Amino acid sequence: MHLRKRVLVTGGAGFLGSHLCERLLNEGCDVLCADNFYTGSKRNIEYLIGNPYFELLRHDITFPLYLEVDEIYNLACPASPIHYQNDPVQTTKVNVHGSINMLGLAKRIKAKILQASTSEVYGDPTVHPQPETYHGNVNCIGPRSCYDEGKRCAETLFFDYFRQHKLKIKVARIFNTYGPRMHLNDGRVVSNFIVQALRGTPLTIFGDGTQTRSFCYVDDLIEGLVRLMNTNDDVTGPINLGKPGEFTILELAEKVIELSNSKSEIIFKKLPADDPKQRRPDITKARKILEWEPEVELEEGLKRTIAYFDKILK
Ligand code: NAD
Ligand code: UDP
Repeated sequence: MHLRKRVLVTGGAGFLGSHLCERLLNEGCDVLCADNFYTGSKRNIEYLIGNPYFELLRHDITFPLYLEVDEIYNLACPASPIHYQNDPVQTTKVNVHGSINMLGLAKRIKAKILQASTSEVYGDPTVHPQPETYHGNVNCIGPRSCYDEGKRCAETLFFDYFRQHKLKIKVARIFNTYGPRMHLNDGRVVSNFIVQALRGTPLTIFGDGTQTRSFCYVDDLIEGLVRLMNTNDDVTGPINLGKPGEFTILELAEKVIELSNSKSEIIFKKLPADDPKQRRPDITKARKILEWEPEVELEEGLKRTIAYFDKILK
């Protein structure tokens, strides 16, 4: 009999994973973090090391893992386009082989398993905002395909294990999330702009900056993931998690410059292939089923993230 819930977080040393591990420890869980440090780092979780209920495993989930837990959050996968395109075959592998390994583990030990899926399953969407019922507009042979199709296949695997093996699954489709502990060279837009603004170097807008995104602060997102994991077994998702406000990338650049009192200028660079033109989550389902509402406004979240980067850049 285990008094504490034992939870495995794959990718636990990454941006979202480190916040999730912290949250689960605060709730009294016994947390196992499995990470191969591809994009994550010990620095993200250094303050957790030494906590007797936190265990760190250096492990690549494309290889099998044998242990006993009650719940699995499967977050392992590089999330930033520059990192996931650096070794695209490994990106597909972590999503397909990695998911098969984690689903196999969940099946053997009868654990509940949550998949960190993504708004990228909608590709460059023709339906706006995106509800979970939209099947997406994804290129299967482009530079983003290793991630987009990898994540789509992972969802397929989750639902086949659910139908075929009666596994308890939860699939969250995460939209752009930002906050402290994003990697300094992460490459995603919020951290790029903040680091550029704080260093006084030009902010690099790809394309003309009219493409849109919705930005969710990390604490809100983690609340959504934990609520989803704790729902009844008949709730499988997929369920969108993100903050519905929509901003152009140019608006974001201007906001970051203003909030960081930066003198940086804005420069325009070539738009990468298959870069989605618009993205905004329809979170009707999350509101209803999880009673979840992201609370941190972009301005407040940016202030907190700027303060974090300001500290680590000094
Ligand atoms: P991140 O890159 O900071 O974290 C990913 C973690 O997974 C890193 O610690 C990395 O070292 C680890 N990892 C990668 N390959 C691994 C492997 N083979 N075995 C073990 N560990 C491995 O990214 P993040 O933003 O924290 O994203 C976490 C998850 O959430 C990812 O699955 C990502 O696809 C998903 N997601 C994130 C966002 C977002 O905006 N942050 C949006 C949609 C989906
Ligand atoms: N982007 C940008 N400058 C940067 C980094 C990203 O203009 O330095 C753009 C990128 O082309 C995309 C948007 O910002 O249109 C969001 O990019 P990100 O990599 O954060 O996530 P995506 O939603 O594209 O996966």
